[in-house]
Amino acid sequence: MNATYDDWLQAAASLTPHGEHHIGGADEAGSGARFTVTAPRDGTVLAEVADAGQVEVDLAVSAARRAFDSGPWPRMSPAERGQALLRLADLIEENRSELALTISLEMGKPISDAYNIELRAAVATFRWYGSLADKLADESPHASPDVLALVTREPSGVVGAVVPWNFPLTMAAWKIAPALVSGCTAVLKPSEESPLSALALGRLATAAGLPPGVLNVVCGDGPGTGRALGLHPDVDVLAFTGSTAVGRHFLRYAADSNLKRVWLELGGKSPNIILPDTPDLDQAAQTAAWGIFFNQGEMCTAPSRLLVHSSIADSVIATVVERARALTVGDPLDPATEMGALVSEGHRERVLGYVETGTAEGARLLTGGTRMDGRGYYLAPTVFDRVDPASRLAREEIFGPVLSVISFDDLDEAVELANATEYGLAAGLWTADLSTAHRVSRRLRAGTVWVNCYEEGDLTVPFGGMKQSGHGRDKSAHAIDKYTDLKTTWIQL
Ligand code: NAD
Repeated sequence: MNATYDDWLQAAASLTPHGEHHIGGADEAGSGARFTVTAPRDGTVLAEVADAGQVEVDLAVSAARRAFDSGPWPRMSPAERGQALLRLADLIEENRSELALTISLEMGKPISDAYNIELRAAVATFRWYGSLADKLADESPHASPDVLALVTREPSGVVGAVVPWNFPLTMAAWKIAPALVSGCTAVLKPSEESPLSALALGRLATAAGLPPGVLNVVCGDGPGTGRALGLHPDVDVLAFTGSTAVGRHFLRYAADSNLKRVWLELGGKSPNIILPDTPDLDQAAQTAAWGIFFNQGEMCTAPSRLLVHSSIADSVIATVVERARALTVGDPLDPATEMGALVSEGHRERVLGYVETGTAEGARLLTGGTRMDGRGYYLAPTVFDRVDPASRLAREEIFGPVLSVISFDDLDEAVELANATEYGLAAGLWTADLSTAHRVSRRLRAGTVWVNCYEEGDLTVPFGGMKQSGHGRDKSAHAIDKYTDLKTTWIQL
């Protein structure tokens, strides 16, 4: 990425985002109802976007249904479907700058991260599943000499994908790519905070040659558009990423409608344990700070509980606080910015509410906890120590740049503290001892455990949660399980 701050400012001034739904391979204005999307960097209006009610959701689901029941997509060879996803990946890459800019504008992420991390992940996801298409195989178990038994994977049908705003394109890609490559068709509902990049994705899918109705995008809020999709009797699978509270709604929608399969990727309150034998304490502390402030702390996997052995706590905390104070917080469009704006004023107020709660609960505020200057929704990187493990600060997902430090004295206590949460999405562990790394990572109830690193990974490994962080896995070949049904065919010879 070579563009300068001025280049991005100019590009932003001339960006004209499309605000129509994408249904059946074409833009669709719908009823004319609109909602406003604003830029967290300065609160200005970015676009008026079409708001989908029941009628538009019905249209989108019907388009996906037709494309599944009678369109070419599920009947194409897997290799042909794979080729289409590879073309989509190429188009995303060709439009990388504009998509990164759109994301940075709509949800406040630094342009450098949008370009280098989010767009790279979205392209990689479509490429990985596009390449996987013709490498999947069915089974033929050795049932009996007189029988040919086949276990085949059948595409599950119409997939509703409801995603959050923190990684708008990556979260969409993690659902859409494995669903489409399996032969399903889809209706994507992005967050009302970040619909513009998803609408652009819908148009690019059509430009890449995906048949009409294979990928539809409808916009609107949760209680309106999201609920209509969740309750829709013609949606076979609902893949959701978002908060645990909203995940519960989707289970209810399924129970109240057609018992559609619901896959949930939910919230987290991840522990990051630093043991005294950590090989490089400075790196551990720097990574702890990077982890909680990356993407403004708006990360499901954010290492928001730093569990540090009391013998090293002072030096680790000093490094984390120093890093927090040195962070470049500001306009997301400046390539030098390390932390941008929170997604909305409402969300900033919610995060500040936790700062008040934490202080009232007796935690010690070491740095941050205040709004920052500027018209946008900026908040200073915040660190608390002496956090009571039973307090709300230690238990609830804040989804902002707020770190809670808790000290411990022995390993069993650390594991107990780490697991003392309703969530189970991710965990970090820092140690030089291989046996400790194995033993402790097995005892941690989390879908991902990072040892001597944080937020690392690629498409080859599954991602998802235990406990109330959800179930089902995104990424890797395991994601195919969510969008296919096993069929047994028993042929008597
Ligand atoms: P959210 O749950 O408020 O919204 C997520 C999506 O659900 C949005 O599209 C929203 O419009 C929709 N929605 C909201 N209320 C709804 C309702 N009543 N019925 C139907 N749909 C509804 O979450 P958010 O604020 O967009 O994102 C933050 C949350 O997402 C955090 O909890 C974070 O941990 C989680 N998240 C999880 C993962 C993961 O992979 N586990 C990844 C990213 C974010």
